[in-house]
Amino acid sequence: MQRMRSLLSGDWVDGHGRGATLFNPATEEPVAETSSAGLDFAAGIAFARRVGGPALRALTFAERGKLLAEMAKRIHQHRDELIELAMTNGGNTRSDAKFDIDGAMATLAHYAELGAGLGDARILADGEPIQLGRAPRLAGRHVFVPRRGVALLINAFNFPAWGIGEKAACALLAGMPVLCKPATSTAAVAHRLVELVADALPLGAIGITGDLDHELPGMLTMGDVIAFTGSSNTGARLRVLPNVVRAAVRLGVEADSLNSAILGADVEPGSDTYELFIADVSREIRQKTGQKCTAVRRIFVPEALVERVHGDLAERLSGVVVGNPFTEGVKMGPVATAQQQRAVREGIARLSEHAKVVVGGVCNPIGVPEGKGYFVPMTLLAATDTGAAVLHDLEVFGPVATTFVSPADTEELCALVARGGGGLLCSAYTDDRKLASELVMGLAPHHGRLVLGSQKIAGQAIGPGTVMPQLLHGGPGRAGGGEELGGLRGLAFYSQRTAVQGDRALLDALVLG
Ligand code: NAP
Repeated sequence: MQRMRSLLSGDWVDGHGRGATLFNPATEEPVAETSSAGLDFAAGIAFARRVGGPALRALTFAERGKLLAEMAKRIHQHRDELIELAMTNGGNTRSDAKFDIDGAMATLAHYAELGAGLGDARILADGEPIQLGRAPRLAGRHVFVPRRGVALLINAFNFPAWGIGEKAACALLAGMPVLCKPATSTAAVAHRLVELVADALPLGAIGITGDLDHELPGMLTMGDVIAFTGSSNTGARLRVLPNVVRAAVRLGVEADSLNSAILGADVEPGSDTYELFIADVSREIRQKTGQKCTAVRRIFVPEALVERVHGDLAERLSGVVVGNPFTEGVKMGPVATAQQQRAVREGIARLSEHAKVVVGGVCNPIGVPEGKGYFVPMTLLAATDTGAAVLHDLEVFGPVATTFVSPADTEELCALVARGGGGLLCSAYTDDRKLASELVMGLAPHHGRLVLGSQKIAGQAIGPGTVMPQLLHGGPGRAGGGEELGGLRGLAFYSQRTAVQGDRALLDALVLG
């Protein structure tokens, strides 16, 4: 069986003992093992700070951008191999695997271009100089410089490639070395990806660990950062670590979210906007077997359209073939682990106490041994008690969503959506500009991203679940309060913003190469 090693202090090393076993979630066969037992994490962190950091800081933004371009190129060269690994260890269909691998590549390539655009500079300007004295000569300006620590990148199981890609792109371009800590259950893709790119980067600029590495966050100090993606519960645990509190270790939390889709009352069934809504919602339920932090969980529909929407979604969803991703025709695979399977089943049961099943109940996967695989039924529920807390609180991390009858009043609708407690995104489908602007006012305070679907963009819309490197990713409240990506905004987390006062000409020269 494949043995996955850790990259620490510039060496590929193996821990003691058997460690954790990774499985194929479609067949339950073991596919790899990894152990970090006995590895010297403290030395690995120190090495990254001492060797990787200075090497990156010595480079200009354009030179760091070239490193990212090379990472994207190597992923591209091994794309088929990575896709196959994601299918084997993640239960991804080919198309779901591409979503992850191509997402990593595209994000690295985007930041490579941003690096090229910044040229020979090593210090990033934050805004223009500000005149401080009576004469223009005395000025102040804000600049970003790389933090002098290591960036610990903790990722969730659902995007082993993209998770590394989006965080590493920002950290490395900002000038910080990274230590990747993938979720153990699906770590095969992450380990291979790091193996592929490691020697394209300066020594110490990237590392990766295996299992049993939950002690890592407790070893960090001022100058280090933790970029965490995962559940709110784990995020909450990290926030109260004594070193995080005392040394103000910078912590970014990207957690869970009950994302919503809203169909405007103005939208006619069969119109372009309506079809966009149906296509987006059905894709968001099915894609990656619903294991996306951005998947739609709550669907708000005007009363007059509820039956029609249920019928159209049921038609799309019931045509989805479930089974082994390697079997021809399969469009949805299993969830990633036995634990996720249990959680999804329990979640459906809890939601069903306040909702009726429109689609679901059965799941007959093809291409797998009888009774094997962590499969769950695709499930569309209709709320019977719109205000039931569990329907707005419980993130069922699988192909599961609930419809609600929208309140006719827009403010009430926004208040109901806001009961999700803060989310990554909300999509609204309407051609009514007044409604769209009321929804933006009402929903933006509760979300990191809003997607406005309308007839004008129906032909070229990008699904709401696709995170774009140009735009912010993250959300308030239970979504963690973090902000990632958003073009150059994404570098701020890995940088120290410092106000510098002095001679205006000197301040101008600082941010030039
Ligand atoms: P999780 O159980 O919180 O684990 C996330 C990561 O944290 C894993 O790498 C895990 O490692 C690690 N971890 C767990 N406990 C830790 C500790 N005490 N100290 C250090 N690391 C620790 O979440 P998950 O089940 O992998 O992911 C699913 C959740 O992630 C969902 O709720 C989903 O909404 C959320 N998510 C959010 C986003 C976003 O961008 N907002 C994206 C994807 C997923 P091990 O695997 O080794 O335990």
